[in-house]
Order: sequence, then C-alpha cells, then structure tokens
Amino acid sequence: MAVSSYFPRRLPAPDRARLLASIVEASTRKAKDEVPVLVFDLDGTLLDNRPRVVRIFHELAEHWRKRHPAIADRLARCVTEDIVYGLHENLKLQGVEDPALLEEGFAYWKDRFFIDPYMQYDVAVPGARDFVSSCYAAGATIVYLTGRDLPNMALGTFGSLRDHGFPIGVVGTSLVTKPAFDIPDTVFKHDVAPSLSRHGRVAAVFDNEPANCNLLLEHHPHAHCVFLDTHHAPNPPPLDPRAQVIESFEIE
Ligand SMILES: [Mg+2]
Repeated sequence: MAVSSYFPRRLPAPDRARLLASIVEASTRKAKDEVPVLVFDLDGTLLDNRPRVVRIFHELAEHWRKRHPAIADRLARCVTEDIVYGLHENLKLQGVEDPALLEEGFAYWKDRFFIDPYMQYDVAVPGARDFVSSCYAAGATIVYLTGRDLPNMALGTFGSLRDHGFPIGVVGTSLVTKPAFDIPDTVFKHDVAPSLSRHGRVAAVFDNEPANCNLLLEHHPHAHCVFLDTHHAPNPPPLDPRAQVIESFEIE
C-alpha cells in the first residue's frame, strides 16, 4: 500500500504512548465532575475490516471457480495485506478487468459486507482493546459511533465487540449506529455529534476519516481528537491541525 500522506504527522511511538496515557488519565472520573466520554469510530479505527473483505473474496473465489478459474485462484490466495481502499480497486488488483464481472463482484461483496454474519471476521486494531478497556476502567463512558446501520449490522457489531473483549453491554457503554443504510456517514455523525454531550463531557474522539475528525472537533472543540492513519475515503478534506495522528493503539 502507498505511504499515507499523513505519515509525516504520525506521532513517534513514545509520543503516541504519552498521548494515550494522557487520555486514560483524562478518563478518570473526579467527584462532582461531569463524566468523561470517549467516542470511537469502528471501521478503520478500533476494528480492521480488511479480513471481512478477504473472507468475502474467498467465498467469491468458490462462486467463480468454474466460470473464471484463474481469477478464482487469485481471489482464494488473497490475504489481509493485499486489501486497499475501494472494492473496484481491490477486484482489479485480483485480476478482474471485465466491467460486467467487476459489477458482479461488487454486488456479491455488497450483499455480504454490510450484514451481521460477516462482522465476526473483523479483527481489532493493535492495542485497541486494551486501550479502550483501560479508559473504561478509569471511569470514562465509551461510545462506539459508527456508520454501520441498525437494521443490518448492529447485532453482528455488538457480538464482534463482545468477542474481541471491548467493553460493551455494560453500564457506561453505548453502541450508536445509523438508523438507515443510505444515510451518508458524515451526515449521520454531524447530526448526532451535539447529542454526544448527553453522556457527559466529550473528552476525546477517534476516527479514521479526516471529515469526521473535523466535524467532531467542530462540535467538541475541547476534546482530544485522534486521527487513525489506517485507511480513509479518497479526496479527504484537510485534517484539522489540532488532530493528532496515530496508526495503532500500541503503547510499546
Ligand atoms: Mg471509520
């Protein structure tokens, strides 16, 4: 994968560890103080969804095995590190060139990527589970604010967070999803951002999309804003200079 344009802004590991420790410290509830609230995006922030794409490609390989054996062989060998942003780009990287086949592959992926049973294939971003758990243990309320939708993805997401050991389903946690699939993620996050204060004082926000970091800072200018430099949609707006850039939650 190409080097991210945010690479020069990534905090060196010791600075990243200091930033994360300061956020754990800010998660400590003080008497009579408002509850600190930490807001985490999921895809590309706490969870790596590339293995979900790989799983679907392996199934697509079997689906295409008889008709397109050469492409099926490549898809079957696909691994997480091969996956880039954009499904068409990924299919082309696996040798799918024919426009009709690209569309068929896209539809196959879309029918699976956004439904509950496939959420189990995601993996946690390194250090994410321990970091979120530390913040929760310190006293913060944890809000998972995701562009995944309630009708099709919320239950699978709940199970995935539980199975990965993130705090979920306990007092002081919340999974916030889009009410409908077709709402653009940034519109949804912009609309709900003010209401995050219902949980308490928003102390930190984490997202892998510059647009979301910017809009969350707009609504919560005193919060730490942490940009996860994993992958993001093409042609992002300039990232707010107040955002700090990390690529994982590892502290060593
Ligand atoms: Mg995301």
